Amino acid sequence: MTESVNFVETIRKALNDAASGALLMPEELFFVGQDEVKRGRFVSNFEDRVAVVMHNRFQYMMPQPCLRQYDETCPFHDGALEPKETKTHYAWTLWSYDDSARRVGLWKPSQNTPIAQMLDLFELKETITDRDALFTKTGKGPKTTVRVKMWMDPEPFKGGEVATFTEAEILKILKKLIKKRTVEELRQPLEQRKEA
Ligand SMILES: [Zn+2]
Repeated sequence: MTESVNFVETIRKALNDAASGALLMPEELFFVGQDEVKRGRFVSNFEDRVAVVMHNRFQYMMPQPCLRQYDETCPFHDGALEPKETKTHYAWTLWSYDDSARRVGLWKPSQNTPIAQMLDLFELKETITDRDALFTKTGKGPKTTVRVKMWMDPEPFKGGEVATFTEAEILKILKKLIKKRTVEELRQPLEQRKEA
């Protein structure tokens, strides 16, 4: 009986994770799951970001990098998407204690991402790399919010030498998010498409 309940919970969690995009993400991306707390450490400072142009259409297309950054033709221009569906995101290298690996933190400036809190700390201390950071995620769908808290005292990083990802490495990682789509395909919501 207990085993059966555990199995139900396991499957339910797996389905939730899939729905929230966790299983679609390249493992190199710093991903905070629903109601999860993750501890990280920024390796790149606030200004050492890599800018990436991302396209997305809520419920129609998961965020993916613009193909022009790979010297390919991108169909999502000239009015194919609304202006709000193309946004510059910024990537930082951080160490994930939970994964014991370096990860790419990728966010756009908005009220729902940690960037405002990172900016606050940077303006106060001129660095975001001298202390650990706690990430949390709340909400669902378009209301999903990832926050970072860096109130702890500064302390040396014990994770050893961690190199920052180069722009080329970051683009290579994000390439895994690309699903080639036509503009016509974006008229059908993801949940109605078999391949989604
Ligand atoms: Zn594009």
